[in-house]
Amino acid sequence: MSLGLAYRVRIEPSFSAWREEARLLLRQGIAPDQVELVSTEQDHAMTFGFAPAPAPDPALAIQKPSVPKAFFELAEIVCCHKDPDRWQLLYRVLWRVQHERSLLLNELDEDVARMRRMDQQVRRDLHKMHAFLRFRMVSTPEDPEEHYISWYRPDHRILELAVPFFAERFAVMQWTILTDYASASWDPQSRAVTWGPGVPRSEAPPEDELEGMWRSYYSSIFNPARLNTRAMKAEMPVRYWANLPELNILPQLLAGAESRVGVMMQQQSSLSANTYVPNDHTLPVLRDAIPRCEGCELYKPATQAVFGVGLAHAPIMLVGEQPGDMEDVEGKPFVGPAGKVLDQIIAELGFDRDTMYVTNAVKHFKFVQRGKRRIHESPNLKEIGACRPWLLAELDAVQPQVVVCLGASAAKSLLGAKFALMKDRGKIVESPYAPRVVATIHPSAVLRAEGETKQVLYNYIRQDLALAAQTAGLAG
Ligand code: SF4
Repeated sequence: MSLGLAYRVRIEPSFSAWREEARLLLRQGIAPDQVELVSTEQDHAMTFGFAPAPAPDPALAIQKPSVPKAFFELAEIVCCHKDPDRWQLLYRVLWRVQHERSLLLNELDEDVARMRRMDQQVRRDLHKMHAFLRFRMVSTPEDPEEHYISWYRPDHRILELAVPFFAERFAVMQWTILTDYASASWDPQSRAVTWGPGVPRSEAPPEDELEGMWRSYYSSIFNPARLNTRAMKAEMPVRYWANLPELNILPQLLAGAESRVGVMMQQQSSLSANTYVPNDHTLPVLRDAIPRCEGCELYKPATQAVFGVGLAHAPIMLVGEQPGDMEDVEGKPFVGPAGKVLDQIIAELGFDRDTMYVTNAVKHFKFVQRGKRRIHESPNLKEIGACRPWLLAELDAVQPQVVVCLGASAAKSLLGAKFALMKDRGKIVESPYAPRVVATIHPSAVLRAEGETKQVLYNYIRQDLALAAQTAGLAG
C-alpha cells in the first residue's frame, strides 16, 4: 500500500503494540482511511516523509471500544502473518466492528475473508512447526548440561504462538528455538521462557547423535500407505526438509514400502479411517472423499456417510454422536427430532444454527434391525476411534473457537474414554485436539426423559451452549 503523505503510525510487530496504537486512534476518532499503520520491519517512513496527525474528531471518537472476543482471538493470530498490510487491515476491521457488530460472521465481506485466510495460513504454518521442528543436542566441556537447540524458518512470525506447545511437550528439557527474527529459550527449573533476537542459520549446531535417534523413531512410525510424494511436497515444502534428519533414510523406507503397505492395510483395514482421509483438509475435499470410507464396518448397513454442515469457519462446532435414522436417509446431521430440540435451544439463545458447524463423532448410522424399524445403537470405543480422523480433519478445516460435544460419544472422541459426562459437563476444558471444548447432554436424552428430568436436561444443554457462545465471543 502506498498512501504518499498519509499520517503514518509505526507499529512494533506485536499484538500488544498494535492494540495500544489502535486504541489511541479510536479515541481520537481517526478513521482507517486517514492513517497508514506501518510495521517497523517494513517502514521506510524516514525516506518518504509523512503527514501530521489529523485533528481529533469528537463525533467519531470511541472512548470505550466494544470489541467481540472473537475479533481479538482472530487478530492475535493474524498479527503473526508476515503480510505488511496486516496492521492496517486489523485496524480497518476493528473500526468497522464498532458499527457492524456481526461483521465477523459475514464470510463474504472482503476484509473478513482476508483475515480468515491469513488466520488459516498462520495456523497451517504453526501446525508445520509443531510437526517438523527438530531439536539437536549440544553440550560443551564448560557446560556439560544437555541443551537442545533448533533452528527453524517459519513462513510467519509464529514463535510466540508455538512456544507453549514445546514448553508442554518438552517441559523437563532445556531448549532453545532459533528463528531468523527471534529466539526463545526454555528453562525447566523456573519453567520460564527468555526471549532473544533472531540468529542466522549458520549458528545452529551441527548434526549429532540425536539425529540418529530421530531417524530410528521415524522409521518405526513411517506409514508407507500414506506416502504420496506430491502431497508430501505440498504439506512439507522442500525447504523444510533440511530440518528433517529422517528424510535421509527416505530412500530405504521407500524401497520397503510396498510390502509394508500390505501388512499395514491388513492391520488397519477394520480399525481406522486414517487411510481414507485426504491430506487436504478442506471441507469440499473431505466431503467428496468420505463416501469411500471403509474405516470400520459401520458403512456396510448404513445408507450413506453423513458429513458435517454449516459455516466453513464457524466459531462454534457442535459434535453429536452419530447420524440417526432420518439423518442416514437425508445425509445431513441433526435433521430428526433431536435436531429440533437443538434448534429450539439455539433459537432461545438468540443464535442461528447456520452460524455454526454441526457434525457427528461417527459418520455412519449404527443400528439393529427390528422388523421394519432400525433401532439406534451407540457406537463403541473402537468405532469412535476409527472415525476420529474425519472429525479431526473437520476440526482442522473449520478451526472453531469452541467445540461443543453433544453426548458421551463425542466427549469420548475428543476428551478421552474416561470423560465423565454428568460430572464434567458444562466446563471449558482443553483437549489434545481442540483448545476449548465443552461437553453437554445429547438432545436425544431430553426426548427420552420424562417428568421433571426432561426440563433439567434441557436446561443443562441451554446453559452449556450459552457458555460456549460466550467463550466464542458471540454473547454478552
Ligand atoms: S463410521 Fe467413520 S470410520 Fe466407519 S466407515 Fe463410516 S466414516 Fe469410515
